[in-house]
Amino acid sequence: MCVFAHDDAKQERFINEESKHLLGGMQHKAGQSKYTKEIKALMVLFGDAIDERELKEHLEENNGNVALVIEKLTSKLMNIDAKESEEKEKSKEMEKKSEKVKKEEEHEKVGEIKPGINLQGYCNNEKCLASKGKLLVWVNLEFIEISFIPDKTKLECPNCLEKTVTTVIKAMFYNSEHSIHAIGDLKTVESNNYQCTYTIDAGLSYELKAQKIRQLATSIEDLRDRTMKWQI
Ligand SMILES: [Zn+2]
Repeated sequence: MCVFAHDDAKQERFINEESKHLLGGMQHKAGQSKYTKEIKALMVLFGDAIDERELKEHLEENNGNVALVIEKLTSKLMNIDAKESEEKEKSKEMEKKSEKVKKEEEHEKVGEIKPGINLQGYCNNEKCLASKGKLLVWVNLEFIEISFIPDKTKLECPNCLEKTVTTVIKAMFYNSEHSIHAIGDLKTVESNNYQCTYTIDAGLSYELKAQKIRQLATSIEDLRDRTMKWQI
């Protein structure tokens, strides 16, 4: 990476050096170690970042002017450092951005999902942060039987604790035996899955029911089934 400047003065000096070398062994040695002190000094300063050969090249390039070499190398290294720290800053910013995204995702869900019926909707209380942020809140009703019109509810907001969740858009049954029925619809959906989510249509009214999964009964039945199988 070292570019030699072939100015005449330098060329001349080089020739002079060469001719001196031809004069005797002692002088030849002196010529070879011409920049030894300078290189030693530069090695102390830049030895970690630049190897000896390159330092020598820099010295030759600058006619042995140590101060000039130091200045050049320092600014070169500082530029590299600046670039590196710039890149670090950028990656830090990226991290912050992705952190922000995560936080917003977390904030988007206000309220906890608990076993039983969980309704997701919007709080209408102007003083509520969930309402200001237009965030969806989860309202847990546990194990009950209810009927409601999705845009005429008065559910308690988990954030402001006022009965201001007036719009429901989603229903989730968590860890419960349940049924959901849209009034006017012939079909009732029943399930006892671990987690089931249903979209609530604003134009309909609903009947929801959730009860605890009868684990004991099922396990006794299971046990009986297994015993029967063994007997066969
Ligand atoms: Zn609220």
